[in-house]
Amino acid sequence: MSRIAYVNGAYLPHADAGVHVEDRGYQFGDGVYEVCEVRAGHMVDERRHLERLVRSLNELRIRLPMPLAALGVVLRETIRRNRVRNGLVYLQVTRGVARRDHYFPDPATPPSLVVTARSVDPARADAVAGEGIAVITVPDNRWERVDIKTIGLLPNVLAKQAAKQAGAREAWFVDASGHVTEGGSTNAWIVTGDGRLVTRPAEGGILRGITRTVMLEVAEALQLRVDERPFTVAEARAAREAFVTSATNLATAVVRIDGHLIGDGRPGAVARALRENFHKYAQTGR
Ligand code: PMP
Repeated sequence: MSRIAYVNGAYLPHADAGVHVEDRGYQFGDGVYEVCEVRAGHMVDERRHLERLVRSLNELRIRLPMPLAALGVVLRETIRRNRVRNGLVYLQVTRGVARRDHYFPDPATPPSLVVTARSVDPARADAVAGEGIAVITVPDNRWERVDIKTIGLLPNVLAKQAAKQAGAREAWFVDASGHVTEGGSTNAWIVTGDGRLVTRPAEGGILRGITRTVMLEVAEALQLRVDERPFTVAEARAAREAFVTSATNLATAVVRIDGHLIGDGRPGAVARALRENFHKYAQTGR
């Protein structure tokens, strides 16, 4: 089936879908994005993703390209036209098209909006989670505003490529004090020897993942003890469990960090329970 992309008001065949060469996203990485899980044809946590989009846009003083209700229609229509039952929908907003100049363009310049959607086989994702993944650690060389979900992802791209070349799936960024911040495209968690769930506070050094927020609710419902505090690489290596969260990974166990086995090298009970219970707590639109 041919894929369709939404680009600035038009639904186009994926192969022909493009933005102008002087789009500020292309020239400067001057834009933001969101990725939302699609499950049984519906977006998961649409409201939270759109709220975070608005926050990212406000931080960068980029206008919302259309009212949120209209944006919801475009997202749903892109999902429908691509016949996605299970997968993801991606949206990107940039500061628009203007002659290349670092200064913001004329305020009347319309922001650019691109939306794509694609299917992901849930059985394959479950198979990955069933095995667990390997991560490597890399120095966190990103700017301070990683709380904004910008399309400027070069450090993340380089870190994840280094992970791939080392036979791992994710890279965990480590700050100057030796604490894990987050993954290249995921939030990072551990379960300590005495069963406490630990993840870094969202007030600094990380993106406030929507999946992270919902998993904290799941953890509370499961009566798990949670500490929102930074943890070191050494603590993670000695942990009972480690895992990552994101809209596309849900909770996926980490079974190796820099080649060291975590626990018995199999996905642990906490990561499994959080993954299994996630959709009971996430908001799925109708
Ligand atoms: N951190 C980073 C750097 C990410 O790119 C992502 C995925 N977008 C996350 C965390 C997880 O966020 P979410 O749970 O909203 O997908």
